[in-house]
Amino acid sequence: MKKSPNDHKQYKALTLANGLRVFLVHNNESSKSAAALAVNVGHFNDPIERQGLAHFLEHMLFLGTEKYPDGSEYQQFISQYGGSNNAWTATEHTCFFFDIHHSHFDEAIDRFSQFFISPLLSQEFVNKERKNIDAEFKLKLKDDIRRLYDVHKETVNPQHPFAKFSVGNSETLADHENSQLHAEVRTFFEDYYLAKAMTLVLEGPQKIEELSQIAKEKFSAVNAAQRKANTIEQPLYLPEHLQKLIKVQPVKDDKQLIISFALPNINEFYRNKPEATLVYLLGHEGKGSILSLLKQQNLALALTAGSGIHGANFKDFNISIKLTDTGEANINQIITIVFQYIALIEPAQLAEFYYQEKKSLAEISFQYHEKSKPIDSACQLAISMQHYTNDDVLYGDYAMDGLDRNLLSYLLSFLKPQNMRLIAIGKNKDFDHVSQWYRVPYSISPITNSLIQKWSSCKNNDALFLPPKNNYIVVQPEILTNEEPKRLLPEIISQESGLTIWFQQDTLFKVPKGYIYINIDNPSVIESVENIAMTRLFVDLFSDDIVEEFYDAELAGINYHLYSNQGGLTLQLSGLSEKQPELLKHLLKRLQEFQCIEDKFDLFKQQLLTHWENANNNKSISQLFAILSSLMQPSNPSSQLLADALAPISIQTFKAFYQNLFSQISIDVFMHGNWHKQHALNLKSIIEQTFQQKYSDKNKVAVPVLNIEKQGQLQLPLTLPEHDHACVIYFPMLSKTLAMTAKTMLASQVLSPDFFQEMRTEKQFGYLVGVSFVPINKYPGLAFYIQSPNIPASELESAMKTFINTSVKIIEKTSEEDWQHLLKGLASQLQEKDSSLRIKSQRFWASICNNDHNFSQKSVLIKELLKISRNDLKNYILENISSINQTPDFISLLSCKTEKNSVSDDLTTKLIEINNICSTKY
Ligand SMILES: [Zn+2]
Repeated sequence: MKKSPNDHKQYKALTLANGLRVFLVHNNESSKSAAALAVNVGHFNDPIERQGLAHFLEHMLFLGTEKYPDGSEYQQFISQYGGSNNAWTATEHTCFFFDIHHSHFDEAIDRFSQFFISPLLSQEFVNKERKNIDAEFKLKLKDDIRRLYDVHKETVNPQHPFAKFSVGNSETLADHENSQLHAEVRTFFEDYYLAKAMTLVLEGPQKIEELSQIAKEKFSAVNAAQRKANTIEQPLYLPEHLQKLIKVQPVKDDKQLIISFALPNINEFYRNKPEATLVYLLGHEGKGSILSLLKQQNLALALTAGSGIHGANFKDFNISIKLTDTGEANINQIITIVFQYIALIEPAQLAEFYYQEKKSLAEISFQYHEKSKPIDSACQLAISMQHYTNDDVLYGDYAMDGLDRNLLSYLLSFLKPQNMRLIAIGKNKDFDHVSQWYRVPYSISPITNSLIQKWSSCKNNDALFLPPKNNYIVVQPEILTNEEPKRLLPEIISQESGLTIWFQQDTLFKVPKGYIYINIDNPSVIESVENIAMTRLFVDLFSDDIVEEFYDAELAGINYHLYSNQGGLTLQLSGLSEKQPELLKHLLKRLQEFQCIEDKFDLFKQQLLTHWENANNNKSISQLFAILSSLMQPSNPSSQLLADALAPISIQTFKAFYQNLFSQISIDVFMHGNWHKQHALNLKSIIEQTFQQKYSDKNKVAVPVLNIEKQGQLQLPLTLPEHDHACVIYFPMLSKTLAMTAKTMLASQVLSPDFFQEMRTEKQFGYLVGVSFVPINKYPGLAFYIQSPNIPASELESAMKTFINTSVKIIEKTSEEDWQHLLKGLASQLQEKDSSLRIKSQRFWASICNNDHNFSQKSVLIKELLKISRNDLKNYILENISSINQTPDFISLLSCKTEKNSVSDDLTTKLIEINNICSTKY
């Protein structure tokens, strides 16, 4: 098996006597063990009269087995020992996975394996879970991706399994006289959950022999029967489904054109990846590219190439274009440009270096493989096993054996107007159809012959040309020698008023990569909502302005990202380290020289306003959390306030603002990874030259948090007629000591399983149900939330309050032994070693931003956590959240379908009112 030289795990493949293929992974760098099991079954296998059955069965497997009949026991067990678990159902595969502290892996896997051997599939849970599936379906009714899928399914060959509805709802899963779901889900399980269709991965610090023993012992009883062949006889598109223009109405204000080409399955070419060259060229963003020309003509804002649904006998190759208003009115002009570009690609003459650049990057990412969490790598491996031979399981995704011009030519032959479907997404069109499940307005019409003819004979356009060689590509990146003495933590290597440089050389992960963070505080940025809004606009305009110039860097594996925060701006670079300083120098120069032009100002201002207005279409629970976040953080205004503030801003005002954006600043820098100290010192002089003396400690920004002490309950009812009911109850803690943080984290961990069990499984209030630890600017807080398609928010609120007020019972019923496991489980989650340079950099950077300059908060937090007794947590609940013997301070946010409350519903007024009565703290 081909394995990365940087991958120190041990692997072993084996096949059990029943035919189940297993991969065992010995990973001695994690305290967690993980398992993932993928089955070659998905919604494509649903009987036509029982759509959603595969998904329904996936849910049912969690709800009790003969050996462990209690439907909530598995989840409780996993969370008690610091683990997590989930599952998903896709078109042709279903995957189940979990992780847990390795000391309890054996017991967890005993529970997990029973899913696939003897699930109860009880009548009681069949009835309950049907409602949960329905809630899950309704949750995504406003999701534009799902809606587009629904239209897609209605406009393909109805005989192809893709045409079926995948999620299921109370209608497709209802019982009928001659058809009982209970019996059918059993049959489906028996037909498809067969060892020969399964791939299993077990990963953990256990020895390979031990893992092998577990696999044999626990999974040998999975049904060994022969599986039915899973072949799809019908093509996804018949001729009558091609050469169509499909217009679709989105929920969000979004304008897109998807040019979609129907390809056969291309999985078999994975060793060559001929599509990579097409993705490279069509998706290019530099000079001469499709996107560059579309932008020059004010037709588009962004473009991606190569994505699209794929499966056993089909692959859509999509070019997705985010349109401007002008673009939306001129889609034929856009399509002409795309075909003019495609005409430039001549497989026989095409330069080899496009493929070679992609290949060298794939090799670098394979060779310097970065570890992911065991649960993530186990899942990925279980799915790779479904697609690749054992030898290629780890390498298949990276393999690029050489440019095969015949294959390229073969794929290119499908990028023809005759083989195309156009999907135009936008409001205000004429729609004469409504899709069945998601009720999406759409229309479908043929593309005229004359257009097909015209696009078939597109000639070159002088404004379009293939990209030159990329100078940012590093073919042989090198890992630098270690400087002495080797440091384990970042250190300040330079500090003056307003400029602090942190540095750590870190080659622990043996990757030629690095991270640079530059935080630029500016007090004027948060002086007013207008300034906050203009800062966001600056970020968008600047990022667009430089995209062409630095696209080569992105292609070469160096990423940069400018974003606004609650004190100013952060510029972040990541990826291969060697050429990052060079890129950074150019970026900082451009940041200083930025000039805004009128056309772009209008376009991006409008874009941003639309973006903020679209927040009204997010699901209700997300809207409530967004409001909570802006309420608690006065320098993080709500979308509505930002839109109101930006609307009247003129280009003159904006220019005056950004010209002073870097005049009074304070800068913190962190450079981490494959570098020497000299690199950081060079960086320092670049910053000194760029921002000459404009920085000072007096420009540091402290971020305020709302103080709701002694306010009792603050209630914010919101009328969202088109959305699900929802309620969030949030308890912000008064102090930000680590002891308080530890108790709040623990409370969320302890209360979660019971809350989930009561609200989702028993009462079936909804699909989105939970208790979360939600810190806001270092102040810990506890949030309870439910989104429900049918229970009014006030009812949700009172059920949640009853739960909260009686929640001490949960602590009382926990035995001392279970308590100790809980503490250790949570501690081990916090203790988990950084699995990659990226995770480590993020952790250090967060500590620097939080003034945790000894990087010791995590270890103190763990100490505090391990000290908490049952009695301590009981008191925490009684003092901070329960209203049994006092009135706690909390915020409750409600999403109501109708205006029932007499309370003023104007959110902005309400937010300002609360802001006026409360003070802030830091
Ligand atoms: Zn589901």
